[in-house]
Amino acid sequence: MTEELVITCIVCPMGCRIRVLKKDGEVIAVKGYSCPRGREYAVQEATRPLRVLMTVIPCINGDLPVVSVKTSKPIPRDKLLEVSRYLASVSVEAPVEIGDVIVENILGLGADIVATRPCKRVKN
Ligand code: SF4
Repeated sequence: MTEELVITCIVCPMGCRIRVLKKDGEVIAVKGYSCPRGREYAVQEATRPLRVLMTVIPCINGDLPVVSVKTSKPIPRDKLLEVSRYLASVSVEAPVEIGDVIVENILGLGADIVATRPCKRVKN
């Protein structure tokens, strides 16, 4: 079976519209890209799209009720829900600094969950 995907490249502000032709799940042609980075992005999107997950988790004894976190690198889009469900049971004790690893190698995906803002300790 042949299918054509039209993907808007978001790697740079040019926003090229790239056509990816797939046959039986395999990429057989890529058209419309203006540089190799765009081609790579389109093929990734057409085969296994990746996303950075951003969310918040509770910060216990902190000056804020939650601390914002993100994955240290993009993870497969089809794993976002599973990771979000896992993080729903995670909390962290203040203090937290930017870049602190909250969960290492989340679900074995090779990405860590890291803090993106600090949370100071306000109680003992
Ligand atoms: S294909 Fe290249 S030039 Fe076009 S939007 Fe993507 S990165 Fe930018």
